[in-house]
Amino acid sequence: MSVKLTPSSHAVEEKERAEKVANPGFGKYYTDHMVVAEWTEADGWGQAELKAYAPISLDPAAMVFHYGQEIFEGLKAYRQPDGSIALFRPEANAARFARSAHRIALPEMPEQLFLDTVLALVKQDGGWVPDKIGESLYLRPFMFATEVGLGVRPSNRALYMLIATPAAAYFNPANAVTVWISTEYVRAAQGGTGEAKCGGNYAASLIAQKAAAKEGCDQVVWIDAKERKWVEEMGGMNLYFVKGSGSDVTVVTPKLTGTLLPGITRDSILSVATDLGYKVEETMISVDDWKNGVQSGEISEIFACGTAAVVSPVGMAKSAMGTWVTGDGKPGPITMKIRETLLGIQHGTIADSHNWMKKVL
Ligand SMILES: *Cc1c(COP(=O)(O)O)cnc(C)c1O
Repeated sequence: MSVKLTPSSHAVEEKERAEKVANPGFGKYYTDHMVVAEWTEADGWGQAELKAYAPISLDPAAMVFHYGQEIFEGLKAYRQPDGSIALFRPEANAARFARSAHRIALPEMPEQLFLDTVLALVKQDGGWVPDKIGESLYLRPFMFATEVGLGVRPSNRALYMLIATPAAAYFNPANAVTVWISTEYVRAAQGGTGEAKCGGNYAASLIAQKAAAKEGCDQVVWIDAKERKWVEEMGGMNLYFVKGSGSDVTVVTPKLTGTLLPGITRDSILSVATDLGYKVEETMISVDDWKNGVQSGEISEIFACGTAAVVSPVGMAKSAMGTWVTGDGKPGPITMKIRETLLGIQHGTIADSHNWMKKVL
């Protein structure tokens, strides 16, 4: 058994759980269990264990607190029409987790072990998976440096953990997100950690999020570090621009240059959009292209995508270069079509022609 099961002796009563799952919010409630696995340089990976969700104790000199050696993932389990549960592309998260670990000098977890921990937790806490379309159980695998010491070097000890939280549908169909294009701060530069899913990227981004809020915007949009003109991402999501109309619709997303986080939702939408008969393009998009495209009407819709919100329409953009609005501030028809198709595949109501869904048995 690659994951040892030690079920909780104090799992939440079914009635209380049902109330929480009926109105889950996001990150408000955590399921009854978690998975923990320790790695040491001397002995490699120890026994992964599923056990009661609980606080952990760490030495104050654990390296993660000082030098921020930490990575994470985010993936979802969805209720299927027959009542079963399926995960969306967990193998892709396993592979990315290993790539992030490599970049942050943490141990690369065997992909099968990662998958086994995810399957074990979802199976054990399956009662926490909501039923409604758009709702899901959000899984958060993470790993951090636990060697005790203040010397600056890769930790010889790491802790992998997996927790889960039921998640409401994020989407507000009445409102497109407003964005602040940051020219003051940078998310990632060539050779940096932009491709890795690490906490440090987020730590460095929060001040820009504050600046965006001060400008009355919901989210920050990042542009490239070198030329300061190419659009990269929105907060913790990738971006898509919809161009043309009718049989000429093209959905365009910024190309992965090494500084963007390669989103699994982004990648899935390249396939979904193709299946829907749209042309797809991965290319460089400048802030000027965005502004001019919106003003000429060539760009009719913009949306951001990621596991948490799946697809979020983007409306107004504000920046030092001016303010412009895409569409009428409401989600456009192509954005909605892509969102509905992806959610349909995730919830098992649309054929999974790419074999993305992994059943939890
Ligand atoms: C996680 C993340 C995304 C989205 O990736 P998904 O795999 O689609 O969830 C995009 N940008 C950043 C910075 C992220 O951390």
